[in-house]
Amino acid sequence: MCNENQNNVDFGYKSIKKSDKQKLVNNVFNSVARKYDLMNDITSFGIHRLWKNDLINWLAPQNTQNLADIAGGTGDVAHKFLNAGGNSAHIFDINKEMIQVGKEKYKNFHNLEWTVASAENIPALDNSFERATMSFGLRNITNRSKSLQEVYRILKPGGRFLCLEFSHMENGLLNRFYDYWSFKIMPLIGDKITGNKEAYKYLVESIRKFPTQAEVSHMFSEVGFSRVKCRNLSNGIVALHSGWKI
Ligand code: SAM
Repeated sequence: MCNENQNNVDFGYKSIKKSDKQKLVNNVFNSVARKYDLMNDITSFGIHRLWKNDLINWLAPQNTQNLADIAGGTGDVAHKFLNAGGNSAHIFDINKEMIQVGKEKYKNFHNLEWTVASAENIPALDNSFERATMSFGLRNITNRSKSLQEVYRILKPGGRFLCLEFSHMENGLLNRFYDYWSFKIMPLIGDKITGNKEAYKYLVESIRKFPTQAEVSHMFSEVGFSRVKCRNLSNGIVALHSGWKI
């Protein structure tokens, strides 16, 4: 797809060598990890919680289901999965700092597991989870197709994957406010709270460079997912993508 030509890949609006992207992404999340949850609340007016609730509602967890939450960060989605009745959740994230923050936050949850690992090489057996999620992770991954193949591999037949990601808005009045907020205000708030304006500039740019809803659906189908569906939330600011392994 768009970010995956031979040698180069997008890092926000920059085109960089594929081999450099993960290090730069890790720098972003290392520097914001301790303020990541707070920044999510401020920059989305708390709406990221509603989007994650929508993901969980669509997933409809059951007590027979074990979740792999890929690029799970500080554990929000995994925690919501357990609260909604899921059996256990295993968070995989490449960033130790993000995982550390999550472990502290959810230290009383004993059916949460945490592993530092890349989505491109998930340390889990084939066919081992009933459900998988990825929330605001795919955009940051260098080889997105490889990570989707990995999610497909670790799901059991009959398993389902839901991916929540920033996407492309349907036309509307909100567009101009959204552009102003994300390009002008978010980097300033990022600077004030995390001391890293560049990190939030990257996040905003990476959203604009991310494939469209139709392109992501196509990527799902290409790696083998069936019954691929997409729902726009908040006028397409984010999209929920669903696929099944049959
Ligand atoms: N899922 C969490 C949420 O919704 O709040 C965290 C999302 S955060 C925007 C993106 C996460 O992707 C970070 O925790 C980052 O460390 C992780 N990440 C980036 N590249 C990754 C990779 N190759 N494999 C696994 N995780 C990765």
